[in-house]
Amino acid sequence: MSNAAAQAVDSSNTDYRNLDAPVYNWPDVPKGSFTITGAEATLPEHIAEFQKTLRDFAINVMRPIGLKLDKMTPEEVIAEDSPYWEFRKKYLELGVTVEAMMELEPNEAALLFSILFEELGYGDAGLAISVAAGILPQWLSAKFGRMDLYKEFPDEVLGCWGITEPDHGSDTLDPSKAAASPVGDYGRPNLVADLTGDDIVLNGQKSAWVSNGVIADVCIVYCAADVGNGPDPTRGATIVFPMNLPGISRGKPLDKLGQRALNQGEIFFDNVKIPRKYLLAGPEDYQRALYCIHSEANALMGSVFAGLAQAAAEAALDYAHERKAGGVKIIHHQSVKTRLFHMFRKVEVSRALTRRVLAYNNDAAVAVPSLCSAMFAKTTSTQNCFEVTSDALQIFGGNGLTKEYPIEKMLRDARASMIEDGCNEVIAIKGGAYLIDEDKLG
Ligand SMILES: Cc1cc2nc3c(=O)[nH]c(=O)nc-3n(C[C@H](O)[C@H](O)[C@H](O)COP(=O)(O)OP(=O)(O)OC[C@H]3O[C@@H](n4cnc5c(N)ncnc54)[C@H](O)[C@@H]3O)c2cc1C
Repeated sequence: MSNAAAQAVDSSNTDYRNLDAPVYNWPDVPKGSFTITGAEATLPEHIAEFQKTLRDFAINVMRPIGLKLDKMTPEEVIAEDSPYWEFRKKYLELGVTVEAMMELEPNEAALLFSILFEELGYGDAGLAISVAAGILPQWLSAKFGRMDLYKEFPDEVLGCWGITEPDHGSDTLDPSKAAASPVGDYGRPNLVADLTGDDIVLNGQKSAWVSNGVIADVCIVYCAADVGNGPDPTRGATIVFPMNLPGISRGKPLDKLGQRALNQGEIFFDNVKIPRKYLLAGPEDYQRALYCIHSEANALMGSVFAGLAQAAAEAALDYAHERKAGGVKIIHHQSVKTRLFHMFRKVEVSRALTRRVLAYNNDAAVAVPSLCSAMFAKTTSTQNCFEVTSDALQIFGGNGLTKEYPIEKMLRDARASMIEDGCNEVIAIKGGAYLIDEDKLG
């Protein structure tokens, strides 16, 4: 043992300042505390400021608007006088644009992206997903170097992502058929892009689940393509186009359990002629384009639902300090303390994993992002979020079941996340396929 270390453990020595050993200015019974995003190392000042602005936006703009929208009918949510549009206006005023994100150093962009969607999820998950789906056409255009499309559809133009179909849900995310059953076949796709002429011609429909589907002004569609040999869902087309083209119509907004602030609905295509310039990826690039959007979207889901889980854990922690039962504030009951411990542990896991995945997938040195890791983030964070919101409700007891308290909404919002962006079970099957090493199979 070095001299310094020997002195450090000598309790009779009180002149700690003279030692080389670490100086701990701790109280007798130390108790650490977290930053607003948990056990996060100090952020650069401008990012910490950005986070504070977003936290303020989440609490003071998103929460009250999200609560109002949650109680409205789907038609009222998208009506002209809906508070949704007030949210949208205020979000745009924050000035977070795809272009600004793309100009940042990759690692900084990844951190900002994480914080943006964590904080939006902390405010209201349905509105957070509306923002996320809303920028997918622009985000993917920029990622593919198609700044001409980004210029035509800047951030103010609300976007949507049409991929799933009435007859095809999780399987539309699986064109390589990694998760498909060995028996049976895909069947007929519901939307087909005819690529045989000068213009692209779209016929068919997308599912009732397209987020922002009824209100979006630009769409990024993923669908089967026909190059003259019939529709092929494995070698499809990715197209970014305005939603006011002749032949496009929309269904009714969907009425659902959670994320009710998020509008969803079908899109129908009747001989829609689309100029070729809107083709982002053709059959040769289709699997790459799908891999790209799936890696982005799954990681983004990880951030949003880490944010929602944190909001639920904090609400439960506050409540446990207020509610008295069994003669004491319930925070003193061991079962409540341990429940809260595991809730915060899961929040930390979700956030740490998702930030790590985003940092990796955005690292300039990484040639191909890891979809498998994005799937880890999505499945972990959404499963944790469901468990945390459910545990939070348990801590609220009967009050948690009522609309007087925020928890039942958080649980409903969380439940959808295990289906949204691909059912977690199917994602795990597909992700597992990425672990197969053909060389080791001999
Ligand atoms: C809130 C929300 C937002 C959404 N946003 C969008 C959007 O913006 N754009 C869009 O296009 N879609 C969107 N979706 C649709 C979403 O991606 C699909 O709901 C999801 O992929 C599941 O498809 P499905 O509902 O058709 O279920 P199905 O695919 O029919 O699955 C039904 C059940 O069968 C199981 N199953 C299916 N296939 C397999 C398999 N191969 N192996 C094992 N089990 C299987 C599933 O796990 C599930 O339990 C959204 C959905 C939600 C809930």
